[in-house]
Amino acid sequence: MTATWTTTRSQALMARARDLFPGGVNSPVRAFGGVGGEPFVVARGEGPYIWDVDGNRYIDYVLSWGPLVLGHAPPVVLDALDEVMRRGTSFGIPTGLEVALAEHIVERMPHVEMLRFVSSGTEAAMSAARVARAVTGRDAILKFEGCYHGHADAFLVKAGSGVATLGLPNSPGVPAALAALTYTAPFNDLDAVRTIARTTPLACIMVEPIIGNAGFIPPVAGFLEGLRAICDETGALLVFDEVMTGFRVAYGGATERFGVTPDLVALGKVIGGGLPVAAYGGRREIMSHVAPQGAVYQAGTLSGNPLAMAGGLATLTALTPALHAIVERRTGELVAGLRAIGARAGVPITADHAGSMWGLFFHPGPVRSYEEAKQGDTALFRRFFHAARERGVYLAPSAFEAGFMSAAHGDDVVTETLGILEEALTVARA
Ligand SMILES: *Cc1c(COP(=O)(O)O)cnc(C)c1O
Repeated sequence: MTATWTTTRSQALMARARDLFPGGVNSPVRAFGGVGGEPFVVARGEGPYIWDVDGNRYIDYVLSWGPLVLGHAPPVVLDALDEVMRRGTSFGIPTGLEVALAEHIVERMPHVEMLRFVSSGTEAAMSAARVARAVTGRDAILKFEGCYHGHADAFLVKAGSGVATLGLPNSPGVPAALAALTYTAPFNDLDAVRTIARTTPLACIMVEPIIGNAGFIPPVAGFLEGLRAICDETGALLVFDEVMTGFRVAYGGATERFGVTPDLVALGKVIGGGLPVAAYGGRREIMSHVAPQGAVYQAGTLSGNPLAMAGGLATLTALTPALHAIVERRTGELVAGLRAIGARAGVPITADHAGSMWGLFFHPGPVRSYEEAKQGDTALFRRFFHAARERGVYLAPSAFEAGFMSAAHGDDVVTETLGILEEALTVARA
């Protein structure tokens, strides 16, 4: 297919992709359904930037949806991959690298005494729920509206209207009988959780300690502590899905930030530094139930893959507490800048961050739940997204996604971003 002046290379490639992949993509949100228009096709990334196949440069705040805490193609990660790759890419036999990465994680998250590596966050959350069900001997689980835990059947469930309503499948192909075992409650609503947990024996309460999959929604004071207390009272396990927040919201993740300790944790994204790595772990007594030490079956051909382990190890090693603090400060400046832009323009903006994870809503705030998030001005967001993109800033193509910052986004990049976003807001309002 030849590109003409009316067809960009991105458009030509997407036309071929739509023939090959459902919606032209290999993961739905990439199709720009949330903002309209056509996605661009990326050619390469370096530091804070990505370039599309037509040569346009963007400052990237999606960062592969979170993993790239050091930015694109950081030399420390490339060097590690290069070295490991030459010794072979996969063995299906224990390697020293998986021990090294696990020790690194355990040191930063002391409540994780034992873990199991898998290849995606979906697998991590799904397996954590399986362990919780096995350990407690209970089938029901509880999740929160707006929280995403990957696409395993049990989690593709939306709330009914009342708090005690049984879950209804949110996707064809999920058996209603299975979805009925998944209860949902509004985020930040302890009363709703208490009502369900006291009447239904729950295997676990699964939560994103800060929601990042419905925009950025932090827990209100006492919410995570309350979940811990409800779990202790009712015998449910508390599972933190830290696939997004892990090594983002604090050096040691949400447990360090909030001082609340879960029974199990799911990790992903940053722990692979852009390669497919995820994990689930927790107390030894719980993780001992996993095969072959215990009876809960879970396996993976490419689990602990040496290339992926090397990517994660190089990333976590480079992400020192000092570096984390710098990225956190710059994220705070970005968010403060966004609030100031909103104030100058007279547009209500709720913007917030934790560590290097951030988000904004065109909503006066507070935003404490998915229900409140949905009341934001999503039409304005769509116009803002496109105006920003046309000017070289790539935000997540949905009003309901978090943003990320990397160590490669220097002060000058933040300043440039804020200039572009102020102009984008002016254009978006017109
Ligand atoms: C991204 C994400 C997942 C799913 O991870 P995949 O690697 O995409 O399967 C699960 N939970 C949370 C909180 C996530 O952000």
